[in-house]
Amino acid sequence: MGMYDSVKFFSDKPKCGAGHEPEGWQTKDLKNDMATYYVVDGRFYGHLRSEDDWQEKIVEVDQSGIVLSLTHRSKAEVFTGSILVYTHCKKCQPVFTDGQAVWNDGLAPHEPWVEYELTFADGVLVKSEPVKLETRESMREDLTKHGLRVMPDDDRVVQKRIQQWREGKR
Ligand SMILES: [Zn+2]
Repeated sequence: MGMYDSVKFFSDKPKCGAGHEPEGWQTKDLKNDMATYYVVDGRFYGHLRSEDDWQEKIVEVDQSGIVLSLTHRSKAEVFTGSILVYTHCKKCQPVFTDGQAVWNDGLAPHEPWVEYELTFADGVLVKSEPVKLETRESMREDLTKHGLRVMPDDDRVVQKRIQQWREGKR
């Protein structure tokens, strides 16, 4: 069941090729049941299915309503081995290609791919090594090699899309 697990970094955050710290890490090297794992101060925690162990607490009550906080526990993993984690960096400005009618203007965004190998010994992170770090420049080269038409950043329609992308990030 499922396809992947998620990994969230509260420490030891892997960086993209441009030095950002991307979010949204996934791995296929654990149980692939849509669980979330955590790296906190160099230690590995998990496996928690999203519906397990959640506790709701009321932290504030006033005339207009209530404030609830949702907490859950995650257990220390005594895991030894290596896993690949990967994501797209959404902090890098996307590179746009033309000719794929994904949206009305026919431009398709491409975000740099980031892949790391994490090695754990008894649940302690002992190594974090980049396996693939795409940059906007390397993406441009690869896309061109695959026969796609890479649009220049100063193209008028691209400029518009970049502006929308910036606004969407806020
Ligand atoms: Zn980036």
